[in-house]
Amino acid sequence: MKGIVSSFQSLGTLDGPGVRAVVFAAGCPLRCIYCHNPETWEMKGEEVDAETLVQKILRFKPFIKNGGVTFSGGEPLLQGAFFAEVAERLKKENLHVALDTSGNFSDNSTERLVRAVDLIILDVKFVSESDYKKYTGGSLEKTLAFLALAKRENKRVWIRQVVVKGLTDSDENVRKLKEILRPFSDCIDKIEFLPFRKICLEKYDRMNIDFPLKNLEETDTITLDRMNAVLAENNS
Ligand code: SF4
Repeated sequence: MKGIVSSFQSLGTLDGPGVRAVVFAAGCPLRCIYCHNPETWEMKGEEVDAETLVQKILRFKPFIKNGGVTFSGGEPLLQGAFFAEVAERLKKENLHVALDTSGNFSDNSTERLVRAVDLIILDVKFVSESDYKKYTGGSLEKTLAFLALAKRENKRVWIRQVVVKGLTDSDENVRKLKEILRPFSDCIDKIEFLPFRKICLEKYDRMNIDFPLKNLEETDTITLDRMNAVLAENNS
């Protein structure tokens, strides 16, 4: 089966445990206001056969055998059958496979893909349905339905959220996030706040698209420390 891949990173360290090969899927149903990968929005890139991609990944096996492989994007769920096939092959090679997703898409291949991976890295982009819709075009409900699926399938989950000044950087936001995630706490291994960065500006310029947050400050360490402190508060 063929899929469309936007790019491939042979040795990444940010998208899951250890050193990893990262496959960036082409195509995304969302348009997040802070998106740092606008080149993945459209279903454009290299058309590649599942086995060809597996063989390409296996060339890096000596380096990633203690880390693994991450499907990121874009949105890998848009090509669920393709990534499920790749994941199933990689599992036969004893590689750890992670799926980095917003959970905002599902079809009849979604369950198969979730079953095939070891770890789900789930972006919970905003904590209210209205903000989620306004700043990404998607739905928090879909993210939570996906999280429920991951829980049913006994998957380990890492939660991520990008911290954007004035949008997701309040203590209240952290408390709301914890509240939303509480029913799923037994499958969540960690919650990570990622700083908003503007290194993507160059990409937007090259693509001739306006970056709506180009004048916004990047997230500082004081903010991240404060949010992590609220995250660590014991509310039980
Ligand atoms: S889900 Fe990711 S790739 Fe898609 S628009 Fe949002 S940040 Fe960009």
